[in-house]
Amino acid sequence: LLLAYEPAKRLARVRISLETGIVGVRMMFQLADRPLTLAEKPDAKPLQPGPGKIRFDNVSFAYPESPPVFEGFNLTLAAGKMTALVGPSGSGKSTILNLIMRMYDPQSGKVEFDGQDISFATLDSLRQKIAYVSQDTFLFAGTIMHNIRLGRESATDEEVIAAAKAANAHDFISATAKGYDTEVGENGSLLSGGQRQRISIARAMLRDAEILLLDEATSALDAESEALFRDALQQLTVGRTTIVIAHRLSTVHQADTIVVLENGKVRESGPHKTLLKQGGLYQKLYEYQLMP
Ligand code: ADP
Ligand code: MG
Repeated sequence: LLLAYEPAKRLARVRISLETGIVGVRMMFQLADRPLTLAEKPDAKPLQPGPGKIRFDNVSFAYPESPPVFEGFNLTLAAGKMTALVGPSGSGKSTILNLIMRMYDPQSGKVEFDGQDISFATLDSLRQKIAYVSQDTFLFAGTIMHNIRLGRESATDEEVIAAAKAANAHDFISATAKGYDTEVGENGSLLSGGQRQRISIARAMLRDAEILLLDEATSALDAESEALFRDALQQLTVGRTTIVIAHRLSTVHQADTIVVLENGKVRESGPHKTLLKQGGLYQKLYEYQLMP
């Protein structure tokens, strides 16, 4: 249900444009990254480092003035592995990412990173752990160099270029007349969709976060962009706890575990081959290529 997710994003855009005049790029990036961030608790503590295990423990959650999405929901996402979320529209995939980013808090239960309830974490420590790559990652009017460096402001030019290389973006950047000084235009409008995605991967590479959240694009990229993107993604995900809302079968295949959601419940989970053999919902989604 991509549509249901849209209002929150639109809201975020409005906030960004309202605040652009008063705050610096740092703040804009934070909003762009985690649009509806909740306030930090007065006794918030930084998250301690750990291997990156994420756990939903008896989580119940409803959006404001809406019926529950999750009731007593449990899910553990293995540290350093890639988990693909699949399931019909409205099954709760985006909501899982929203709760991990703390755009919302559960009404009861908790989301833990390595045993620590994230609702008690400082926002800075939470943000440092997470990189979010989506089909419409925000690019800001400015140069390519500037847009990649938003991943880590202290990065040197060399580090930015290394990230771009790892993201398969360096070649197209070098092929432009101004290279890294090329202006991307309002919202990255001067770049193609595939180029924007690779810039956002480069930004996430530079960020070097433990946890990678990916909301995959539904629209097909051309074959070459798709191959470059998949290759870059593979490099980015190594050793990171990665959760991807997967629409492409190529991504689903790549995942260590697939979690099949329906109506806010885990219907099936396991590796691709096992699920296919079970002949359940996954098999149906897969066979009919219904990865909404
Ligand atoms: P999916 O990503 O699997 O399509 P979502 O997590 O977006 O599913 O949605 C789960 C449920 O929550 C759906 O019933 C959807 O209508 C509802 N929902 C999603 N976002 C919002 C929102 N911002 N406000 C109210 N309801 C929402
Ligand atoms: Mg969604």
